Amino acid sequence: MLVAFDDTDSLESMCTTFLATEIIKALRVYDLIGLPRLVRLNPAVPWKTRGNGALCLNLGIGRGECDMVGELDGTPVYSYRRMYEEADRSLVLEVAERTVEKWSRTSEDASPGLVVSDRKPAQALYWKAVREIVRKEDTLQELQRIGADMVGWEGGRGLIGASAAMAWRPRDRTYEIISYRERERWGTPRYLDDISVKEMDLRYTSTFNNFDHRTGRRAISPHTPCPVLFGVRGDDPRELMSAVFSIRSEPPARWLMFLSNQGTDDHLVRGEPDLPNRSYDFMATVIGDPSTVAGGHVIFPVSTSKGRLECAAYEPTKDFRDIVRELRPGDRLRLFGELREEPRTLNVEKMQVISLVPVTRKMANPRCPSCGGPTKSIGSSGGYRCKRCRSRNQLEPLMEEVPRAISPGWYEPPVCARRHLGKPLKRMGL
Ligand code: ATP
Repeated sequence: MLVAFDDTDSLESMCTTFLATEIIKALRVYDLIGLPRLVRLNPAVPWKTRGNGALCLNLGIGRGECDMVGELDGTPVYSYRRMYEEADRSLVLEVAERTVEKWSRTSEDASPGLVVSDRKPAQALYWKAVREIVRKEDTLQELQRIGADMVGWEGGRGLIGASAAMAWRPRDRTYEIISYRERERWGTPRYLDDISVKEMDLRYTSTFNNFDHRTGRRAISPHTPCPVLFGVRGDDPRELMSAVFSIRSEPPARWLMFLSNQGTDDHLVRGEPDLPNRSYDFMATVIGDPSTVAGGHVIFPVSTSKGRLECAAYEPTKDFRDIVRELRPGDRLRLFGELREEPRTLNVEKMQVISLVPVTRKMANPRCPSCGGPTKSIGSSGGYRCKRCRSRNQLEPLMEEVPRAISPGWYEPPVCARRHLGKPLKRMGL
């Protein structure tokens, strides 16, 4: 039985993934079939709280092979590959509803949605929700078509995300193990040994986005007072577990492994940007020099077949801005990023420099063609006059090619400034 939920937390507290651990606990009579799914949706949705993540679990009586995929307050959680018997729908609905109600932050703007179904919504719902804006009516229509049970609170906007998470059929996938704090520690500073995070990042190469080696900062723990201690992402579930257990930290009360679409680039629409609140993968030519504006953001214009577009590398992207500052008119790029509504700017998430134009600089005025003497520029009318024989000429100044500080290739912001859905270059084999 599929159970999906979303929009349960506020900016300040809770985390929808923690609710997954609570639902697993409350429905202990059933086994997990497959892994819990943490599905990120369109990062450009204006009303998201943080990372636009929704959750889906499959519950039933398992059979055959199983793996340990978590531990909740001292009790192991197993995931079965196959289902022997479906869970009772009304029991799942009743318990999940009570649990969502108990933990949701409805007084802090959450608009939770819960869906229970033995059939998945059409896959198209996932692709629309990860790339575009979905209308709630369309979601409800699809849920009715598959005969799903649903509960919405405070408008139930979370039904959109919950249904999309349920509709996900992975094309590309990654894993994340999230560790949760003991209840008494919620809201207090987290104890995590940064050196152990750094070592883990270097040693377990199938993990990604853990540690920024340039600034020496870890990227695995949130800055909010939520129950999460840290989350480590990776491509190999076995290595991921070893990686997590190598981290020195305060004792976690729970941990759980999720299957996820994080780091897959599923959110990118192939093609030139047109509608805002979507993210694109497209080719463009730089048409002006980059400039640094108030706040340290770097802006540069490009042309596409749809016209001029301002692109931005925002301040949090740190050193990535130094690369962007080296772009010059004529450079060809493949750009990846979100088109904002206001100002209508493309927030660059990653780029491939396809080709660089030669950049030249004036070395000296031409020598006089008559006497070989030095010349002086006449001014805006063009040309040069010889300082010795006074004759005029229309020669060009002597130029030299300036070496470019960047080269063709791929560039991405540091780990602290990456999108959950963005595919790190490491995962692209680069
Ligand atoms: P967290 O990452 O901490 O779980 P969040 O960023 O996921 O928080 P939510 O509280 O889940 O934020 O809010 C996102 C809301 O946007 C949900 O109600 C979800 O149903 C809705 N939503 C998600 N994707 C889309 C979409 N493509 N179109 C319309 N609504 C969407």
